[in-house]
Amino acid sequence: MNRLHICDTTLRDGEQAPGVAFSTKEKAEIAIMLDLAGVEQAEIGIPAMGEAECRSIARIAALGLQMKLMTWNRAVFSDIDAAESTGVDWAHISVPVSAVQMKAKLGMTPVQVTELIRKSVDYGLCKGLTVSVGFEDASRADDLFLEQLANQLYRDGIRRFRYADTLSVHHPDAIAARIGRLVSRVPQGVELEIHCHNDYGLALANTLAALQAGAVWASTTVSGLGERAGNTALEEVVMSWRDLYKGTCSVRPELLNPLAALVSKASNRVIPEGKPIVGDMVFAHESGIHINGLLKERSAYQALDPTELGTDHSFVLGKHSGRSAVQYMLEQEGIKAGPDEIKFLLERLRLVGEDPKWVIYSKDLKHWLEHYPAELSN
Ligand SMILES: [Zn+2]
Repeated sequence: MNRLHICDTTLRDGEQAPGVAFSTKEKAEIAIMLDLAGVEQAEIGIPAMGEAECRSIARIAALGLQMKLMTWNRAVFSDIDAAESTGVDWAHISVPVSAVQMKAKLGMTPVQVTELIRKSVDYGLCKGLTVSVGFEDASRADDLFLEQLANQLYRDGIRRFRYADTLSVHHPDAIAARIGRLVSRVPQGVELEIHCHNDYGLALANTLAALQAGAVWASTTVSGLGERAGNTALEEVVMSWRDLYKGTCSVRPELLNPLAALVSKASNRVIPEGKPIVGDMVFAHESGIHINGLLKERSAYQALDPTELGTDHSFVLGKHSGRSAVQYMLEQEGIKAGPDEIKFLLERLRLVGEDPKWVIYSKDLKHWLEHYPAELSN
């Protein structure tokens, strides 16, 4: 129950982020890296988008990757035909399940939607595809309808269901209650996948709450790339599930940074410096108290271990830095400094560090010592 399975949708929902379009080559590179990183399944595109998309999906399918692949489809026969043509053996079929979406998108009643998805599922299964069903806007669906639909589809042969918080309307308590209820009312063989969006910054919290309540698959994207405010970030759910919930997952932490860099480049989106896990500054320290503590004993100021992610703590200087940080930085530059020089540098740091745009590195200290001897002698 503590095992987390990842179904990454960077190449489908991630690509739906405004202004993002991956080339076939970029898609293949990302798929290879996801596979290398130990992701168990990836959703790699929408065959109904046409021939070019089908070709790029087929190219990934031909790579012979270890991870399972999946296409995203509507409950439409022609979508499923296109899915079959790509050579990908898993077809995800998505259907709206909230009253408002069933009426607005399909003009159908719940009974008609049930018939529609059952026919589509049967069509896919008859083609020899492994079918998973996505409940779009599940958060706003009627409890009983959702439960009855899942049970019917289970009898029809479906084992994986995706619960999509499409519009980001859940908070963690609500999603835990809904998932817990659903899990308790479907057969044990059902595997529930949770798919969250981040409009309120709750995608990670909602995903973790759903996993705690009985979902076993998390739908993620690298760095949270996705529609609107994005999706649950792969790296955040992997590391927090393992470190904070003491669960297991097949994803290799040391490849999370290279993955984020690859997707950042392909999507032309800069990773914010403070982005959890993969931001450039998330292991940088300026505070004298923190640096002093880290230098004496790592565990004093470290929860997440940067070396597991292929990086390490770095120290920058600013108005919050103290004597031991300055001393340490000078040692890094091979400089021995006396008490007067350190005092001078600290004073200068307080002054320059007032400017919030400045991040000061050890090379700056070296520069000051070399260029301001007059100030030092005062
Ligand atoms: Zn989505």
